Amino acid sequence: MSDTPAPAAVTMDAIVALAKRRGFIFQSSEIYGGFNGFFDYGPLGAELKKNIRDCWWDDMVRRRDDVVGLESSIIMHPKVWEASGHVAGFTDPLVDCKVSKQRYRADQLFFAAVIVDGKTAGYVSALESEKTAAELQAAAELFKRKKALQGTLSPVVAKDMTEAQPDEIALIPSPATGEPGSLTPPRSFNMMFQTNVGAMTDASSVAYLRPETAQGMFVDFKNVVDTGRVKLPFGIAQIGKSFRNEITPRNFIFRSREFEQMEMEYFIHEDADWAKCHEEWITWCENWLKSIGLPASHLSRYTHPKEKLAFYSRGTVDIMFSYPFGVQELWGIAARGNYDLTQHANASGKPQEIFDEATKKKFVPHVIEPAVGVDRILLAVLCAGYAEEEVKDEKGAVEKRTVLRFSPRIAPVKVAILPLLKNKPELVAIAQKLHAKLRRKYAVFYDEAGAIGRRYRRQDEIGTPWCVTIDFDTIEKPGETFTLRERDTMSQRRITEAELFALLEEHVY
Ligand code: ATP
Repeated sequence: MSDTPAPAAVTMDAIVALAKRRGFIFQSSEIYGGFNGFFDYGPLGAELKKNIRDCWWDDMVRRRDDVVGLESSIIMHPKVWEASGHVAGFTDPLVDCKVSKQRYRADQLFFAAVIVDGKTAGYVSALESEKTAAELQAAAELFKRKKALQGTLSPVVAKDMTEAQPDEIALIPSPATGEPGSLTPPRSFNMMFQTNVGAMTDASSVAYLRPETAQGMFVDFKNVVDTGRVKLPFGIAQIGKSFRNEITPRNFIFRSREFEQMEMEYFIHEDADWAKCHEEWITWCENWLKSIGLPASHLSRYTHPKEKLAFYSRGTVDIMFSYPFGVQELWGIAARGNYDLTQHANASGKPQEIFDEATKKKFVPHVIEPAVGVDRILLAVLCAGYAEEEVKDEKGAVEKRTVLRFSPRIAPVKVAILPLLKNKPELVAIAQKLHAKLRRKYAVFYDEAGAIGRRYRRQDEIGTPWCVTIDFDTIEKPGETFTLRERDTMSQRRITEAELFALLEEHVY
């Protein structure tokens, strides 16, 4: 992927259509009408996702001396979630529309007073999007026209429903019906999925699907310290599914109800320079995103304002990505003090301390937490890599090509092996031999059907960085070379088998 921004024309419709057409992502339970907030990854999506996970695990765990891995259970003792604060506080503010039965996240439902000549004449509402302010302004102008109000309309000031005064709520129109009077005041909605463990379905058997993987690292902290020969500073990393009953799942896989997280808890000394460590991890995360092909131009930082942080938090910075639907959180890096370990020590009665050889004192380590969603990364690489281009075919005619410029590190298929003609046994034999050799180490694809130009296009569309064609020069000229065709430049050159392996070795790591 180059460092230039993806063309502005990339739309979510195009991404969703390609994802379905080429088998990256399907709606869950599609034959039953789909299930909102749940998705399936098809053959290419599963490969892409696995490559993202593997790159992260290799770079975060295997190639570092100070981070170890963990795989904790999805359903944990319910007391974990009481101690962590999730039972009481993992909530989103929810607003119901009593007429349409629609539910909205209060902080995603915006409204504005329609003020004409300084007097409030009514209210308009709109759902959060990059166009919210413009939509509210247009709605206010329409409101004024419909009611034939004379006078000057003030520019609208957008607020979300958490800011609505009690007397305003009844006057704000529901986005579903366009009429006021049906919206409820915001109330807290806990996003954890509940289940029951064992044969009894009563309060005593209630358990939760984890809403984050992080608590596994805190609860197993002592187990890792006592068995893993780790020394501060060190991290525990985990990749796994998390579940949140999101009120409004949306933007394709960006906000779903079942998703996958890659989280790492980096434990540091209580006296360590946490701000420096925080900054180092933010930079590490940015560099890692670039290493899997996300362009720097699409990445930015958002520092959470101090007054909005939880009381225990020292600082949170989100790495943001420019999706087609706006700039949104991709990766959160939080400095969480020693809150989580202290909570679990208090709730379990088991100290979560480390002995400091220098001071001969015990203390509870502090933590820096980089937490990212695999699905959000996958959507980012799809959006940044997608392009529609006009190119010339072999005969010079202009045609359209759709291309996914995946980094070779994460591309679902690394190389396509293409015998020029399927009815020439000499070509097919060499192609099959090469295919068998390559597939022991890399994801490769063998394709002998159709014109070579069409086969190249098919690979462009699924993001395969290289195609190798076994042609007449391969058998007629000395040195057994193949045609290597590069996806991004569409340039072609001759390459030997040894050079091909060296190329893959360099770029696929
Ligand atoms: P948001 O504000 O977008 O809901 P969050 O701040 O609650 O996210 P965290 O609890 O910090 O998110 O979770 C860490 C990461 O997990 C996020 O940065 C994101 O990449 C991913 N994530 C969180 N919720 C979802 C979801 N519903 N669907 C997909 N990925 C998610």
